[in-house]
Amino acid sequence: MKTWEGKRYYTLNCFLRERFGEKVFKVPLDAGFTCPNRDGKVSKGGCIFCSERGSGDFTGSSKELIMQFHEAKAMMNKKWSNGKYIAYFQAYTNTYAPVEVLREKYNSILEQEGVVGLAIATRPDCLGDDVLELLEEISRRTYLWVELGLQTIHEGTTEKINRGYSLNTYIEAVRALKKRNIEVVTHVILGLPGETKEMMLETVRLVANANTQGIKLHLLHVLKDAKLLRLYNEGELEVMCREEYADLIVDCLEALPETMVVHRITGDGPRDTLVAPMWSLKKWEVLNAIDYQLMDRSAWQGKRFFPDNELKGLFE
Ligand code: SF4
Repeated sequence: MKTWEGKRYYTLNCFLRERFGEKVFKVPLDAGFTCPNRDGKVSKGGCIFCSERGSGDFTGSSKELIMQFHEAKAMMNKKWSNGKYIAYFQAYTNTYAPVEVLREKYNSILEQEGVVGLAIATRPDCLGDDVLELLEEISRRTYLWVELGLQTIHEGTTEKINRGYSLNTYIEAVRALKKRNIEVVTHVILGLPGETKEMMLETVRLVANANTQGIKLHLLHVLKDAKLLRLYNEGELEVMCREEYADLIVDCLEALPETMVVHRITGDGPRDTLVAPMWSLKKWEVLNAIDYQLMDRSAWQGKRFFPDNELKGLFE
């Protein structure tokens, strides 16, 4: 059985320590972008699970970018005085602006002391050639990964959640990024309306075969300021209990290759707007429940990863 610093899955912390040889923090930022799924270019509604703050609820959004960075860094320094930082462009769609604007924002953060890389969250339909060129240029200068919000591979769910692009757009974006040697991290949401366990595992199996750097497994949260609340209130959405979620996560981890970094296995719902599931607020209990199930089932990441040539071929 393989373990990573005593864990049964390959955590981001472990990966960053291996890569940089010291503690590296991710600093979440809101660079003031918007999203084509909100401003009318794709749709006005946004994804139904997305909060008013474009899924950037833990950023210091009202503040200027550099100030946000330094405030977050000061907070982290209280716990750890000499770490390094990955600036995480998290809120909204962080490649959705003219390329010169993007360049200026990315560079302004890269100039800050202690920053060793960038993480840029975006939609796969916002990666035009000019943006890809800029990302390639940045990845040659610093450590970079790009996060893509896939959430699900299932078309019916895609429509329900109003994601606004096809699976093929995701696949093409992954191929374009890989061609330029840019690392990719894919977001998957577990518990989307109408999805069975097998459907969620099908999504995870596709990502597992993409030969990319990482995955984020999110627990679906119902937030006060998200459209999903209506489905929840009308009884059209069932939320998992903690044990069910931990069991599902173990299945997901087993289906991933040992080389894929697991950036997240739960979700951080903001306390003031979270409606369900409330157990998710106790993050350490969720992580402990997952560790317990991994042990109880004699499971670890990669135990049931079987490379699928057909799926792999999609990304080559
Ligand atoms: S693409 Fe991202 S920012 Fe845009 S609506 Fe969906 S979750 Fe929110």
